[in-house]
Order: sequence, then C-alpha cells, then structure tokens
Amino acid sequence: METRKRTIDVVIPCYNEELNILSLVDRVDTHLAGMEYLCTFIFVDDGSSDNTCLEIRKLASSRDNICLVKLSRNFGKEAAIAAGLKHCASDGAIIIDADLQHPPHLIPDMIGEWEKGAHIVDAVKTRRRKENIFRRMASAVFNKIFSGLTGIDFAGASDFKLLDRKAIGILNSIEEKTRFFRGLTHWIGLHHVTLEFEVEDRNAGTTKWNTLGLFRLSIDAVTSHSQRPLQIVSVLGVFTLMFSFLLGIQTLYNKLVGNAFSGFTTVIIVMLILSSVIMIGIGLLGTYLSKIYDEVKGRPICIVEDYGNYRKRDATIEAAVE
Ligand code: UDP
Ligand code: MG
Repeated sequence: METRKRTIDVVIPCYNEELNILSLVDRVDTHLAGMEYLCTFIFVDDGSSDNTCLEIRKLASSRDNICLVKLSRNFGKEAAIAAGLKHCASDGAIIIDADLQHPPHLIPDMIGEWEKGAHIVDAVKTRRRKENIFRRMASAVFNKIFSGLTGIDFAGASDFKLLDRKAIGILNSIEEKTRFFRGLTHWIGLHHVTLEFEVEDRNAGTTKWNTLGLFRLSIDAVTSHSQRPLQIVSVLGVFTLMFSFLLGIQTLYNKLVGNAFSGFTTVIIVMLILSSVIMIGIGLLGTYLSKIYDEVKGRPICIVEDYGNYRKRDATIEAAVE
C-alpha cells in the first residue's frame, strides 16, 4: 500500500528579522533531523523594512522547502499568523517566533504529543526571567484581567503551538478580522496538550512591541473574547442608581430641615462620579462599535503582495509519496 510521509509546516511571522532567518532554519532543521517528517518553512514577511524578505528569498532559491508569503505592509503579528495558516497544506503546523525566544528543541516533544492524538499542543511559558520586569508585570496584569473577563486561564500562554490539520482547517474557516490567535485556539476546543518552556533571550534584533502596541493587543483580545465589559457598565449603572437614591433622600432631608445650601460639595462629587461613569460607558460602547465597524467593512485580514517558492513547495509534497 502507498504510504506517505507525514508533512509539517513551520509558520514564522517575521517583521524585521533579517538576522534571525538563518539561525532559526538551522535550529529547526537540527531538531527535526532525526524525525520522519517532511518539513516546509512558511515565512510570512509582515512588511519588513530591513532585508528580511531578501534573506528569505536567498534561502528559498537554494532550498525547495522554504516558502515566502510577503504581505503588502505591516499588518501585525496576528494577521501574519493568519496569513501563514491560510497557506498551510501539510498535516500539521508549528507556529514559532523568528527570534528563537520559542526554543526549537521543544518541537520533537510537540510532535510526540501530536502523534499521541493531540489536536493542539500549547507551549506555555514557565519562567520569564529573560523578559524585562515591566513586560513581565504588564503580562501578569493583562492575564489577570483577561482571565477574569473571559474565564479562560491565560497565564504563560504563548503563540508557540502545534496545530493538526483539523485545527488549521477550523481556524482558517473563521472569518473574524480582529484576531487573537491564543484566544481562538482555546475557543475552538479540541484535544489540547500543554508543554512548558523557558523563554530564551532574543537571538538578534529588538522586540517589535511597545506599550501602545501591547495595549491595543489587550483591547483586541478582550473585545473579541468577552462582552463582560459591557455588562459591567450596566452593573455600574445600577450601583450609581442606588447611590443617587440614597443621596436624593439625604438632599430631601436637608431641604426639609433647612440645610439645603450645605450640599454644594456633594453636587460636585456626584457630577464628577456620574460623568466619569458615563464617559467610561460611552468609551466601552465606542470600542465595541469600532470592532463591529471593522468586521462589517469586510476587508481581508491582510494583503499578500508576492510569493516566493510557493509552487515548488507543492512539488516537494508530491515527491514525498513513496
Ligand atoms: N512580528 C510580526 N509582525 C509584527 C510584530 C512582530 O510578524 O508587527 C513577529 C516578529 O518578527 C517575531 C514575532 O512576531 O517573529 C514575535 O515578535 P517579538 O519578538 O517582537 O515579540 P515579543 O517576543 O517581544 O513578544
Ligand atoms: Mg520575541
């Protein structure tokens, strides 16, 4: 009977990672060397302004299993991952950062769990000593808020994952524009297995996230996975109603006993509290409305400008049929 070697795609979102491309391929190759898998690298160049694209093309010209999906501008990591997954044709896919902070030595264990039946293998950060203190604190606060709002425990969650064909197919069928990969992989369910890893130092280059970028990602993550902030506004409304009722009774009492003029400070405080609650409520509604606006426009998540080696990749898969 004809048997086919199992195939696996390694999806790498890249934004200004020129110095990391070769090292990553080298390290992944080393760890896949003893395994019976045909591996294809799908590099998604997310509008890099350095020589990332050139480096990938150079590598692709000498190796059949290196593919390039070049986006027309920087769309962000979430879009780059979505583009990479859309171009997967193998039995499974590993999503990994280009900077080697996700250790490739975990790949054989991830594949092992896949072979045992996992649909999704989540690599979870244990210690984050190598990340700076601000980043660790911001992550801890975000995880607490996100877990509280969604009921999902996201401590240590990362984008370093192995997905089988079923999970890839389901994720590709989701048409949501504001995507939070970690949230979506949890939301789709299926059989997950967790493996732990320690965050490595960046191989070269610098992180692409600044405070504003992380804040935006947090807003996207929360709004696309929870409506609880809107419910909290309603609860706040009930509390302010109760507060207003008590204050109303006190004001009436003061009026009746002839102390009506002494309440001016209270008026200012009440106005400040109420206007803050109203502004927060409007802000939250606006945030959700803008997300709906993004969805109804129906624009694609990102635009692919060019491919490198994409046809050859299919030939490689054909050659695997024994
Ligand atoms: N990345 C991307 N587009 C972006 C930002 C980042 O494709 O707009 C890629 C980046 O090249 C890297 C991965 O996402 O492969 C993780 O980025 P980074 O290392 O900067 O994030 P950190 O590890 O600091 O969270
Ligand atoms: Mg990194």
